[in-house]
Amino acid sequence: MQRAVVLGGSFAGLLAARVLSDFAEEVVIVEPDQLDDEATGPGAPHRHQLHALLAMGHAQLERWFPGITGELTAGGAQLGSGRAVRFYVDGRPRPPLDDVEMLGATRPFIERTVRRRTRELPHVRFLAGRGQGLLVRGDRVCGVRYAPAGHEHETTLAADLVVDAMGRSSRLSSWLGQEGWPVPPVERMRIDLGYATAAFHRGSELPGTVIAHSTPGPESGYQPACCEPGALAAVENSRWTVVLAGYAGQRPTRDPREFIARMRRCVAPLREVAEHCELQGDVGTFHFRESRRRLFRATSRFPGGLVAVGDAMASVNPVYGQGLTLATLQAHALAMYLRSGAAPHAPAWDYFCRADVFIDAGWKLSTTADLAQPHVTGPYPRGYPLIRWVGDKITQASVRDPEINRVYMDVLHMRRHPRTLTRAHVLLRTARVLLDR
Ligand SMILES: Cc1cc2nc3c(=O)[nH]c(=O)nc-3n(C[C@H](O)[C@H](O)[C@H](O)COP(=O)(O)OP(=O)(O)OC[C@H]3O[C@@H](n4cnc5c(N)ncnc54)[C@H](O)[C@@H]3O)c2cc1C
Repeated sequence: MQRAVVLGGSFAGLLAARVLSDFAEEVVIVEPDQLDDEATGPGAPHRHQLHALLAMGHAQLERWFPGITGELTAGGAQLGSGRAVRFYVDGRPRPPLDDVEMLGATRPFIERTVRRRTRELPHVRFLAGRGQGLLVRGDRVCGVRYAPAGHEHETTLAADLVVDAMGRSSRLSSWLGQEGWPVPPVERMRIDLGYATAAFHRGSELPGTVIAHSTPGPESGYQPACCEPGALAAVENSRWTVVLAGYAGQRPTRDPREFIARMRRCVAPLREVAEHCELQGDVGTFHFRESRRRLFRATSRFPGGLVAVGDAMASVNPVYGQGLTLATLQAHALAMYLRSGAAPHAPAWDYFCRADVFIDAGWKLSTTADLAQPHVTGPYPRGYPLIRWVGDKITQASVRDPEINRVYMDVLHMRRHPRTLTRAHVLLRTARVLLDR
């Protein structure tokens, strides 16, 4: 390829650019926000919420940017495994796992580091501007229309491959429609989730803790009965980042007193931080109305020279921490697709198939869990009552049994496919663990 253009220079766009730098003579990232130092910007306001990078996402990040973990930890990020990474269900701790390593760092810090590494790639360049549409010739996309920052007039950029990395609000579907192409259908699940994140000074109150994460589970009917859902991460600049989550009427607010009162109803590590640490700055909230995915493969026709990555393809309930990891796995799918010798000018059906393997896994995991909330009204998969019943039993057994917990956490960290949980040995062991109690 002579030139690949990536629209959107956030996490998924940067990963896609890294992959494309192996295949194109020039990669241009078009991004309207000034993202040099703080990785802030109106294009992705959710950046300031706590972001956990799952073990698979971390491994993929290190694969594409070797040595990045060392750079992040040198800059103050924390790395932990075993008892440093604590997951709770219904207030009960899961057995610790020595080979699940997690990084404690803020999303802006991770993204800034990834952006710096991307900038260092020899033929990647950043262009300040906003994508406005596609250039289409015959049955393929051959470039983009964009408005350079500070200019009113639109200009064009030719490309062999265009990547939509414009996030949840990507306008790709309407651009396709304007050019006379079918619009990919969208699958949605309304979840009405509220998020609130705050930073606290980090001292020696919880030595050796990097991540603590707590969710309600089957014993409480997935309601915050025994403790509030929330998480904390030890991050750079000697801080804790703490997030609280709640659905529908239980959405957290920006009120710091309410935030701390809710932390006191969480699992022990969050209570400790509420008790001993000073709140720094404001509480930031985010309302996540629905999970949604664009079903590119369900369209009858699709132009060549065009793919989508990251939230532009699928954006799922953030409580399960899958978004960044899905972006790294889509980058992997893009690399496999291009490595297979596919012509960039052809419709990228094979890329979408490969990416859908990961998206399906993430989507099933998060939407099946979300359907346990009474205010979530579907759509239900076929056989949902049985899926839910079996899922509840495996979750209950996984909190007690290290072996089932290992499989469960590998699925949660996207290191194994969710169907692993329905293998005969997992189901038999689940039955044995629950009957032995
Ligand atoms: C509250 C919340 C908490 C989350 N927590 C986690 C977590 O713990 N772990 C995790 O893995 N994931 C989490 N996620 C998901 C994660 O944030 C997303 O999956 C991730 O941001 C997707 O990256 P992206 O690059 O696809 O999109 P975004 O980060 O949304 O970036 C889109 C980019 O496109 C740019 N853009 C928009 N329009 C145009 C245009 N016309 N032309 C050019 N550029 C454009 C924007 O400026 C922006 O920079 C969370 C999400 C939310 C909402």
